[in-house]
Amino acid sequence: MRDGDGWVRCQCGQVHWGLHGAAGLLLVRTDLDPAAVLLQLRASWTHGGGTWALPGGALDSHEDSMTAAAREAWEEAGIDPSVLAFKAIFSDDHGNWRYDTVIAHARTDPGAHEANAESEDMRWVPIDEVERYELHPGLRRSWVELIDHVKSTLSGTN
Ligand SMILES: [Zn+2]
Repeated sequence: MRDGDGWVRCQCGQVHWGLHGAAGLLLVRTDLDPAAVLLQLRASWTHGGGTWALPGGALDSHEDSMTAAAREAWEEAGIDPSVLAFKAIFSDDHGNWRYDTVIAHARTDPGAHEANAESEDMRWVPIDEVERYELHPGLRRSWVELIDHVKSTLSGTN
């Protein structure tokens, strides 16, 4: 068991996974036109199961959010960490708990597949089509802001 595994009763009134917070990887394939992001269908037995989310999970005490997001993407989706070009971090800070969305680019197919039992499906979804999916509630709330951050990483120097 990792030392970040556990539930936090948050100041926002909800309960969240990750004693040191949590992080997810928002991976953008820049070699696709239109650019597409990796969505993961969470297995029905998981928290928020049956909805589409980003690969991610709890931070260990020694990890920063980029390290944790990359590790989770490897464990859950088989994403090779060497293809990741980190671009930005979007923090959703609740006070005593935080979720960092780590935006990264990949110039090639990083070979995403369902690497463990937490995933039922993986899909590269064009950025403007993400909102049509049945998203995990946390991603649904943040996507309105995230989409602008993602697009700004694409319009800058790539
Ligand atoms: Zn909260």
